[in-house]
Amino acid sequence: MTIKIDLYSDTITQPSSQMRMFMSNAQVGDEQKGEDPTVNELEKRVVALLNKPAALFLPSATMANQIALKTHSNPGDEIIAEFNSHVLHYEVGGPAFHSGVMVHGINGTRGCFTSEQAKAAIRPKSVYMPNTRLIWVENTNNLAGGTIWTLEDLSDISDLAKEHGLAVHMDGARLLNAVVASGIPAHVFTAHADTVTLCFSKGLGCPAGAMLAGSAEFIARARKYKHLFGGAMRQTGMIASSALFALEHNINRLEQDHHNARRLANGLAYIPGLVINPDAVETNIVFFECQPGLDEAKFYERCLEKGLRFSHLYRRLRAVTHLDVTQTDIDHAIGIAKEVCEEMRAAAGIA
Ligand SMILES: *Cc1c(COP(=O)(O)O)cnc(C)c1O
Repeated sequence: MTIKIDLYSDTITQPSSQMRMFMSNAQVGDEQKGEDPTVNELEKRVVALLNKPAALFLPSATMANQIALKTHSNPGDEIIAEFNSHVLHYEVGGPAFHSGVMVHGINGTRGCFTSEQAKAAIRPKSVYMPNTRLIWVENTNNLAGGTIWTLEDLSDISDLAKEHGLAVHMDGARLLNAVVASGIPAHVFTAHADTVTLCFSKGLGCPAGAMLAGSAEFIARARKYKHLFGGAMRQTGMIASSALFALEHNINRLEQDHHNARRLANGLAYIPGLVINPDAVETNIVFFECQPGLDEAKFYERCLEKGLRFSHLYRRLRAVTHLDVTQTDIDHAIGIAKEVCEEMRAAAGIA
């Protein structure tokens, strides 16, 4: 079967022909030696964007998160993170494997938590207890549905962290979605975190690449872990140039993805058989469910047979809009979802 409308994730975006042209002209050098001019330029651009003293180019946001964790912690330390975090679900147990840290999970709201919740999770200083080291925030939060942290919560958490000598890491894989949707500049969000991960291969449309930003001292130590983790590369200006292109051309257009996500959510909300709250859509991620009695795995499969791919996570369905999906695609997707629901309701004898 061919997939005609792919809402699986914003990771499936193809580099555009303009991006490929731009990449083919990149000046390159040995990145490991700090001699790739394009990588160096990209690091400077991200330093300015996030207002952090230093930044480190990495192959993926997973590696950026894991290196951040390794650089922040010692084995046996504890980190505080919301249960829905990417780092807890989709990084293969990396916190345990690479850093030997414990995780104190918080049951938040919309993937976010309050400073009171974080405070309750901080261990008292005790010879028996792990050292709490780091508070982890994900902005936007993927599994909670592309939700945006409020500046108030972030600022309270950063105050709490300072008070207790903890660091704050922001997994901002989709930070620029939060920026475009809220109108809040990136550096205003990142002012409340010591270190930040940014991903180029999601809605920004690059084939690979991520950035870790923080203090000069932190990034110098992280650079050493980049080698240790096998992430130090060579003529990666080829890839870094795609990120330079994306920072120039693909940020403002995220608004179209957000518009398409809202349009999709509003359309799905009218389909008997689906359960969705369109008001919960803040950026480019839409979660929904099938009504009781309809099997969401079957819904997923039938849509796929009709050329429409969602993703199917923990009994929920997810759609992610991105630069290879048009408004017309969204309208077709709503039509396919409606057909499939009608079929399934008829088969299940639901009037
Ligand atoms: C996708 C994602 C990552 C990992 O990104 P990769 O570049 O695919 O490794 C990390 N955090 C969040 C919130 C993500 O959505």
